[in-house]
Amino acid sequence: MCHAHSTGDCIIEKRVAIVTGASRGIGRAIAERLAQDGRHVVGVARTEANLADVINAVQAAGGSMEGMACDVGDGVGLAALVEAVAEKHGRLDIVVNNAGITRDGLLLRMSDQDFDEVIQVNLRSAFVTCRAAARPMMRGRWGRIVNVGSVSGLMGNAGQVNYSAAKAALVGMTKSIARELGSKGLTANLIAPGFIETDMTARLPPQVKEAALPSIPLRRFGLPADIAAAVAFITSEEASYITGQVLAVDGGMSM
Ligand code: NAP
Repeated sequence: MCHAHSTGDCIIEKRVAIVTGASRGIGRAIAERLAQDGRHVVGVARTEANLADVINAVQAAGGSMEGMACDVGDGVGLAALVEAVAEKHGRLDIVVNNAGITRDGLLLRMSDQDFDEVIQVNLRSAFVTCRAAARPMMRGRWGRIVNVGSVSGLMGNAGQVNYSAAKAALVGMTKSIARELGSKGLTANLIAPGFIETDMTARLPPQVKEAALPSIPLRRFGLPADIAAAVAFITSEEASYITGQVLAVDGGMSM
């Protein structure tokens, strides 16, 4: 059923979820899983064309998804996108800050630009969406914020000073948001993937991957669906008493 809205838009009764970086890899799996679980998913990537495939797949499976283009490094554009989604649907329930990049290099050779870019895309974007999402979520007295971190942010990783700094900062940010907004019915948690098979890790040299395997107790790399399952749970009704937590989905690598 669909009620009229003052702007003429349709208020949908499904919970509305924004997933950044939904065109590929982990974000795509999260979008597909949340749609399968009955959410209306708003997927974000740098171009709408990049989102066409996942939207088709979700809709073919009977799910509900739309796409919006935004470079999450553009804070003004990203905040406007979040506000537009809340306005269009009359609600915003779930935000998954998943979009991320690497600009790996050893400390001695890392440029200021590579440091700043990773902080802007991986960290500041999450701050921007959380700030913009807080008000509509508070209005609904229900909200689920999920920040996608990394085991690199928990353990450190040679060659990833910028990336691990951004991912570790997301942990502190997630916990602060959990403390600020808990009384309003919002939860904020961080999922820390280990080594997951996506474009991001496909670029790594084979010897790096082989060397990583013995450090994973479950002796396999993770799949995007492994992360999506954790996100589905942490954003579900059943997870209403879980906030401020870091959940590593890493085959036991970081314990
Ligand atoms: P991926 O395969 O490289 O996909 C990255 C996604 O982010 C794409 O959908 C991409 O969309 C989007 N994206 C990148 N930069 C963006 C920007 N500036 N604005 C908007 N969207 C942008 O990465 P992944 O492996 O799925 O990783 C997803 C998240 O998990 C990241 O935060 C990553 O740090 C984290 N993670 C991954 C692993 C792993 O092993 N793969 C491990 C730990 C943590 P377009 O290119 O279409 O714009």
